[in-house]
Amino acid sequence: MDAEAIVIGAGIAGAACAYELCQRGLDVLVIDDGPSGATQAGMGHLVVMDDNPAELALSSASLAIWRDWLVRMDSSCGYSHCGTLWIAADEEEMQAAAEKQVRLQAAGISSMLIDALALATLEPALRRGLAGALQVASDGVLYAPNAARWLLGQGGRQGPGSQGSQGGPQGRISQSGQAANGTKSTGSVRVSQAQVHTLEDGCVRLADGSTRSAPHIVLAAGLRAAALCPELPLQAKKGHLAISARYPGMVHHQLVELGYVKSAHERSGTSVAFNVQPRPTGQLLIGSSRQFDTTDSAIEAPILARMLRRASHYLPGLGNLQIIRSWAGFRAATPDGLPLIGPHPQRPGLWLALGHEGLGVTTATGTAHLIAAGICASACALDGNAYLPVRCLQNV
Ligand SMILES: Cc1cc2nc3c(=O)[nH]c(=O)nc-3n(C[C@H](O)[C@H](O)[C@H](O)COP(=O)(O)OP(=O)(O)OC[C@H]3O[C@@H](n4cnc5c(N)ncnc54)[C@H](O)[C@@H]3O)c2cc1C
Repeated sequence: MDAEAIVIGAGIAGAACAYELCQRGLDVLVIDDGPSGATQAGMGHLVVMDDNPAELALSSASLAIWRDWLVRMDSSCGYSHCGTLWIAADEEEMQAAAEKQVRLQAAGISSMLIDALALATLEPALRRGLAGALQVASDGVLYAPNAARWLLGQGGRQGPGSQGSQGGPQGRISQSGQAANGTKSTGSVRVSQAQVHTLEDGCVRLADGSTRSAPHIVLAAGLRAAALCPELPLQAKKGHLAISARYPGMVHHQLVELGYVKSAHERSGTSVAFNVQPRPTGQLLIGSSRQFDTTDSAIEAPILARMLRRASHYLPGLGNLQIIRSWAGFRAATPDGLPLIGPHPQRPGLWLALGHEGLGVTTATGTAHLIAAGICASACALDGNAYLPVRCLQNV
């Protein structure tokens, strides 16, 4: 055996799973040929979403775990406790904000309805004439690529032997952990840069033909997981983002139009919604768009223009800002919009941690707890039934 668990993918989901398994005392081998997935392309809004009870349960539990982890993480992870303002353009959306508040309250998440005047005071750069907002103070933002690196390497510290035998960089961290039986033990995470070519019983075969074996294999390869496991029902949902030069103090909260929820859950067509994030650097990260039926990562000028027009509709000063970069990435969507977390029903030893669509940075921590609890056969405070892969893989 090369490890007690192999994790395929060093995006935020794989990194969180490796970290949590290591915390529980396991020796973990993470294999990634990039990293080059959604984690590098996303927005990093840590947000409680409440479109359905399962999404609310996973996102709120995940945020609570993030708060625990974040106290240990360093400033490179770019965490900011800015909260979210869900913007209501009119009285109808104000009603939707009030209903959202009730749903959040039922899950123990406090939030505050604010009127037009309070909104203008909190965020003077927003256009006048908006009806108000729902403020969720417990949300935040994170720079996910660095957070994943931190989780894998404890802030970039790498031990001796940082050149691996597989032709790529390899790091090793050790952490004091709590084993499944409650005894103290030490886990480790090694990161190997290599491409997994195929999944085999109890092992993975790399592109160079060699194999790595472990009793537990966690597939956290994002959208590309379907190349290794063709039965996975994953669909690409393309998203554009743009980032401005530094304008410190222009925006203070993650600003999202309430209509975003509708856009986020559409299962076809193209949509844009106002979604702007103040980065700790003073830059504004501007989103967001959603498109199906394309896997071309090229920037599409008409979509980008539509997204920026929508953002300018809410933030009129945006047109005067310098946009320094734009890009597109892909969310991995499942048929019911919920991630696949848990054992593959037909492949013993294979665990799935994928399909998080537009919420995978937020829900990486809850995913890690569920996967680690499953592998260590220990209890988990979060009920994982709604995310079990068996619901989508019954007839394969
Ligand atoms: C535009 C956009 C905005 C978003 N905004 C947010 C947001 O605000 N908040 C939020 O919570 N989420 C957001 N998301 C979603 C979030 O980014 C993703 O859900 C999350 O990053 C998925 O992480 P992952 O680790 O599952 O997959 P990925 O980040 O895709 O990682 C998969 C890794 O597996 C590796 N890999 C794949 N195949 C192989 C192989 N065969 N061999 C070796 N390695 C392999 C890849 O190199 C990659 O590093 C956004 C996504 C996009 C695209």
